[in-house]
Amino acid sequence: MPRQYPIEKTRDIGIIAHIDAGKTTVTERVLFYTGVSHKIGEVHTGDTVMDWMEQERERGITITSAATTCFWIPTYHNDDKKYEHRINLIDTPGHIDFTVEVKRSLRVLDGAVVVFDGVAGVEPQSETNWRYADEYGVPRICFINKLDRMGANFEKDVQSIHERLTPYAVVLQLPIGIEDKLEGVLDLLTRKAYYFEGEKGEKIIEKEIPANMKELVEKKRHELVEKIAETDDKLIHAYLEGKEIPVADLKKALRAATLKVRLVPILCGSALKNKGVQLVLDAVIDYLPSPVDLPPVKGINPNNHNEETRKPDDNEPLSALAFKIAADPFVGSLTYFRVYSGVLKRGSYVLNSTKNNQERIGRIVRMHANHREEAEEICAGDLGAIVGLKNTTTGDSLVDPEHPVVLENITFPEPVISIRIEPKTKADQEKMGIALHRLAEEDPTFRVRGDLETGETIIDGMGELHLEIIVDRMKREFNVEGNVGRPQVAYKETIKGKADAEGKYIRQSGGRGQYGHVWLKIEPLERGKGFEFIDEIRGGVIPQEFITPIEKGVREAAEKGVLAGYPLTDLKVILYDGSFHEVDSSEFAFKIAGSIALQEAAKQAKLVLLEPVMKVQVIMPADFLGDVTGDLSSRRAKINAMGERINVRVVDATVPLAEMFGYVTNLRSITQGRGSFTMEFSHYEEVPKSVAELIIEGKKK
Ligand code: GDP
Repeated sequence: MPRQYPIEKTRDIGIIAHIDAGKTTVTERVLFYTGVSHKIGEVHTGDTVMDWMEQERERGITITSAATTCFWIPTYHNDDKKYEHRINLIDTPGHIDFTVEVKRSLRVLDGAVVVFDGVAGVEPQSETNWRYADEYGVPRICFINKLDRMGANFEKDVQSIHERLTPYAVVLQLPIGIEDKLEGVLDLLTRKAYYFEGEKGEKIIEKEIPANMKELVEKKRHELVEKIAETDDKLIHAYLEGKEIPVADLKKALRAATLKVRLVPILCGSALKNKGVQLVLDAVIDYLPSPVDLPPVKGINPNNHNEETRKPDDNEPLSALAFKIAADPFVGSLTYFRVYSGVLKRGSYVLNSTKNNQERIGRIVRMHANHREEAEEICAGDLGAIVGLKNTTTGDSLVDPEHPVVLENITFPEPVISIRIEPKTKADQEKMGIALHRLAEEDPTFRVRGDLETGETIIDGMGELHLEIIVDRMKREFNVEGNVGRPQVAYKETIKGKADAEGKYIRQSGGRGQYGHVWLKIEPLERGKGFEFIDEIRGGVIPQEFITPIEKGVREAAEKGVLAGYPLTDLKVILYDGSFHEVDSSEFAFKIAGSIALQEAAKQAKLVLLEPVMKVQVIMPADFLGDVTGDLSSRRAKINAMGERINVRVVDATVPLAEMFGYVTNLRSITQGRGSFTMEFSHYEEVPKSVAELIIEGKKK
């Protein structure tokens, strides 16, 4: 089957924005203008297309990272089907607790539209996401939205982008009028004015530039042309000789510079008032990359561990990455994937090279805003979702079994916050367990475990809002309501020394007795290695059938913790001796003996507490550097580096998570709202003695 759209006419892009900048509104206008949605939904009525999860509507934020397909013919091609492009919109969330979702969508998108609020300009979260996009080298364009709002100031917005994000942003458009007098948008390269008429702004009217703006346009155009010419050897000569450069050449050079992230075009308008969104779509086609504009994807051949590349070409062997598992109310589980090379066909067998198992591809669907389309195949550079895959999780590679390769995985941080949760009604206990486990399958940064002592359930996640949303989804999607405790730092316990100890569980009062007896050695393992159990019993000192129960007892005791009730980790346990009784020994007795021995040994092996330490980066104007570092030091921070960027200072530090509660508010107040920070998990580290004592004391209460 020939592919539907040439790969050069494909765009895989995301819309990135601070909460409230207008991402949802922009997305809806995009879906409306591209003909997928025939009705403009306003956020305040809750009638949105992308945010199908109810709670997202209520919160007005987007959490899931689904992919939606739409089609666009650049307006300057006047509906000529020949120029139709396929745009895959990859949804990205805006809240800091979901940076992992932002990262995972950045991994699969090729370009981004960054939306700003024209009144607020660059906000802290925009800086965070901007830096992630830098990290992944994602080409982008800026859209300054909400210019119809009172207090909107385009010049200031541009200035804040230059100061806080990049000096390489170039103004491509100017607003015609501002605030409630915003009438349209003006394009500097073509020197045309655009107005948007009709109920939803769907009729685009092209006019000459208003007379009173001519001078400003020439000045701004001159600046723009200079910036573009500087990036291109041929154009710079023409420019220096004072020649007029054709618009087509300028566009070509701007495209090349945008693809290399040498320049970032700035567009403007108002999504709510239907001004300018169609021109953003034109810019997506004109300036953002198609899959073939990017270098081939890299991976490791699992057979010989050599690095291999795959070109974005249908004739290459298949390589695809699963980037999101989502529960769909109608078809069940959906595995969203992007094909990097080759073709993923319905009914075929592929290799999940990450897990080394085969998967059969049943149904493939392509998601549009308001319907899903069954697909026979998904070609290189395109995205889709597989229905009902069993053994594939987020980040896995799906590849041609004859030419296996493992694509670079998305790395997920460890969950660092825990909350106790119980069902509102006892009868819901089982339902809650099922719901939480289902949610954990979808989200690699969310985990569920049981507190063996109290029988309570504990959920671990990336932040407070992350867990709040899980609890909310449990209620809405699974109809289970939960009561939650206060969020706690996920401490762990470990040992620093070696020890051996005996565990005995012997009862011989009347009837049948109990007899379990073991000797264990324990020793520390490297940080992050977890738990290892080794059976060195020889000559039937303890019969084989009791070994598994002993290991179970040991593991349960470790999970329960010895020092302060936190899981004991990074240790090796060796079972080397013990004894048994012909009649009285049982699995139960050995399990208890194992558990007793572990606790005894741990107590002698220099138990310490470990805490999650976060990698924190704070950005602020130079004036606040002293206050910020002073405050960080009072939070037990280690400052690793201090740097300078245009107009701002950057501090890199590692800080214990326990000291970071409420940091957002604090940073805002010491920097008068000008500071921003990002935080991600770094590693577990020993808690200083004095602090550990307080934690243990608090636990006992
Ligand atoms: P998101 O949180 O980034 O998805 O932002 P939304 O699209 O939900 O918009 C947040 C609020 O700003 C909503 O009340 C929108 O109606 C409003 N809004 C979005 N775009 C514009 C705009 O261009 N002008 C004005 N005045 N309001 C807007």
